[in-house]
Amino acid sequence: MIKRSFFTLAKPRLNYDLVEPDPKELESIPIPSNLILLLHEPIDSTRQALIKKGDAVEKGEKLRLYNESTEYTISPVTGTITLIDTYSDDFGNTSTYFVIKNDQNQTTGTDSITYDLKDDIASADEYLRTLPGAPPLKILASDDIKINTIVITCADIDLLSTTHQYVASKFLNEIKQGAQILKKITHVPKLCITVPEGLNIQGGFDSIQVFETALEYPSNLPAMILKDHLNMVLPAGKTPEDIGVCFITAEAVVSLAKAYKTKSAGFEKILMVIGKQGTRYRIKATIGTPLRRIFNTFSIHINDQDRIVIGGPMKGFATYTHHYPVQPDTDTVMIQDRDIIPELSDNPCVNCGKCIRICPVNIPVNILVRYIEADQYEEAADKYDLESCIECGLCAYVCTARIPLYQYVRLGKHELFNLRALETANEE
Ligand code: SF4
Ligand code: SF4
Repeated sequence: MIKRSFFTLAKPRLNYDLVEPDPKELESIPIPSNLILLLHEPIDSTRQALIKKGDAVEKGEKLRLYNESTEYTISPVTGTITLIDTYSDDFGNTSTYFVIKNDQNQTTGTDSITYDLKDDIASADEYLRTLPGAPPLKILASDDIKINTIVITCADIDLLSTTHQYVASKFLNEIKQGAQILKKITHVPKLCITVPEGLNIQGGFDSIQVFETALEYPSNLPAMILKDHLNMVLPAGKTPEDIGVCFITAEAVVSLAKAYKTKSAGFEKILMVIGKQGTRYRIKATIGTPLRRIFNTFSIHINDQDRIVIGGPMKGFATYTHHYPVQPDTDTVMIQDRDIIPELSDNPCVNCGKCIRICPVNIPVNILVRYIEADQYEEAADKYDLESCIECGLCAYVCTARIPLYQYVRLGKHELFNLRALETANEE
């Protein structure tokens, strides 16, 4: 989502970073006194919820809003729910957040509830969706989606992030164990793993097919892995799962291995925090830790108009609050000082053509965006390939007029999805 502005934090480059050869131990952030958990289901004020303010929760307890809810989260601590409220994301989608007051005596070693985990995907999906790395168990467990290839990603998707490379270099055995568990519980016949060119991993991956990915961005994006290594083209408007391929991060695979060993969920997320001067901190923090707590640890002071970005410089999204919590899939957090954020502009396109030349799927981005600006989403899809966008963010990075092209394209896809959902609902 972010354009050129981020590269004021570091030397401009479009190559992925490689994890250092002998990475330091992670800095551990203590469990905070209050944790915030997000649940991807909105509150329905007409129904009686299963959980309410004041309820006691145990570490490892599954939290759902209603009896019929398919979405859940897991409490990383034993404590008390002190707040339940609505959260809106950058597209206006609403979900729910809980604040859980932590029992102050807890450490990361405090015992968690154990689960009756069986060797099948339904059992894993029942308890382990929110493990660090966010394993896509819901997809793998779905009867409607037929997956025949799982790709484990040690190659980080966005620039500046080395979280999954770090995991690959430190937890190779757990990755192998997790891969065997995945095979056993899913029966998916083909397992592959992406490893960035130049990443030195001691030992091999046994029967897993290894894809060595190029260092140049965006070669680690799923659509590029499909094309370059699986000889598959992602059809417009489809996801990799739609064509039978499921991507899972190295960290998620390690988390699965640990969960099956202990019969309980883990909550420590590994992530990279990049401070205002570009200083990087690789840390582990409990899922639900508010970012503010992490910034305080490193004396990173957040001013009013500083920008906090969840994710990397090309695909990350800005959040308006430093209370935003560490999520199971938070790999990178960047902070940009208000004084060095260049304004995005509403300057007119100067027809330089840079966005078209750099787009990996040859979308005429400058024209596409005019249709999106005019709310003509169907036309944008039919005539100018809106749904072919692989969300690399390169168009916004190069735009001479500093038009937030990537943000427009994401918005366009979101609106198109809503429009079609509405049409389908009206037909039923
Ligand atoms: S439209 Fe932009 S974000 Fe989408 S694939 Fe092309 S360059 Fe990447
Ligand atoms: S890069 Fe920006 S200014 Fe150049 S053609 Fe594309 S939208 Fe227009």
